[in-house]
Amino acid sequence: MLVVMKAQATPEEIQAVCEHIEQLGFRAHPLPGAQRTAIGITGNKGEVDRGNLEELSGVAEVIRVTKAYKLASRDVKQEDTVIRFAGTDATIGGRGLAVIAGPCSVETREQAFSIAEKVAASGARFFRGGAFKPRTSPYAFQGLGLEALRIMADIRTEFGLRIVTEAIDNESLELVAEWADVIQIGARNMQNYSLLKHAGKLRKPVLIKRGLSATLEEFLMSAEYVMSEGNYEVILCERGIRTFTDHTRNTLDLSIVPAVQRVSHLPILVDPSHGTGRRDSVLPMARAGVASGADGILVEVHDHPEKALSDGPQSIYPEQFATMMDEIEQIAPVVGRNLPRGIQVNSEVA
Ligand code: PEP
Ligand code: MN
Repeated sequence: MLVVMKAQATPEEIQAVCEHIEQLGFRAHPLPGAQRTAIGITGNKGEVDRGNLEELSGVAEVIRVTKAYKLASRDVKQEDTVIRFAGTDATIGGRGLAVIAGPCSVETREQAFSIAEKVAASGARFFRGGAFKPRTSPYAFQGLGLEALRIMADIRTEFGLRIVTEAIDNESLELVAEWADVIQIGARNMQNYSLLKHAGKLRKPVLIKRGLSATLEEFLMSAEYVMSEGNYEVILCERGIRTFTDHTRNTLDLSIVPAVQRVSHLPILVDPSHGTGRRDSVLPMARAGVASGADGILVEVHDHPEKALSDGPQSIYPEQFATMMDEIEQIAPVVGRNLPRGIQVNSEVA
């Protein structure tokens, strides 16, 4: 259920409606929009008795949300969600494309700093690097853990880049939430509902990568898990799905971009690195991702990919990243976007 408040409803009226909902034993999610505030109701097993609600002061109407996902749905919030990063001009969602770039894994301080410097010089605003790696083999490099988080915090101080890194379990989630700016939930954990719920209790943006065989609805339900706990800052990321093709690691399903945008207000990024697994396919698919209307690109960059401890074959060189930025900058206006380059950090807040 969704309570739509009148455009002129006061904060007190909104508060009173939320309290009323909570008294009924449900959870209220006030979602301010450009025109009016909508209040999502979750936690109800069946239909909520709308009679009382419609009579409360400031209420315009009470609507039933029929989709399985509620808070992630455009029925609840029409305007696109724009995620902001305190003390900076960085955003994810909205007109400006967001670019998240960096190595698959943080391997050494020197490696991470060297790549960060180069992606920052090309105008990236977000740095990615795995600290906790979900690897297919238990014998493969598992990440530097806390040490990698410390290195990335130093990268944020040095270059202003906001940090995106993956949490693989509840233990790493606490650490990632403490040290990073965006918590990544990987494809393999997209349906780890306990992890999603924990991420929902935090107040840090959560980037959810699409599961290897997840449908649109399953993908959005993962976002719903986070949002149902009160964390509304969710970013989706298409990273390729399993198909029968063998010319790429995965099949980058760009058609999910308009499909998500049709039904959800959440931003969606495209990851052409995991989406193809091949360096020579990354730039074409990054261009296609922007052309499809995505809100940005997440890409793996390494200055010595032949020595990378993970995902070397799909990591592009820093020079290729510079080319990618120039190319997507040209495509952006065709789809009503622009590519902001470089991050402004207000030193007092950061
Ligand atoms: C990654 O971003 O390095 C990663 C492991 O991604 P995914 O979960 O999409 O495989
Ligand atoms: Mn990777």
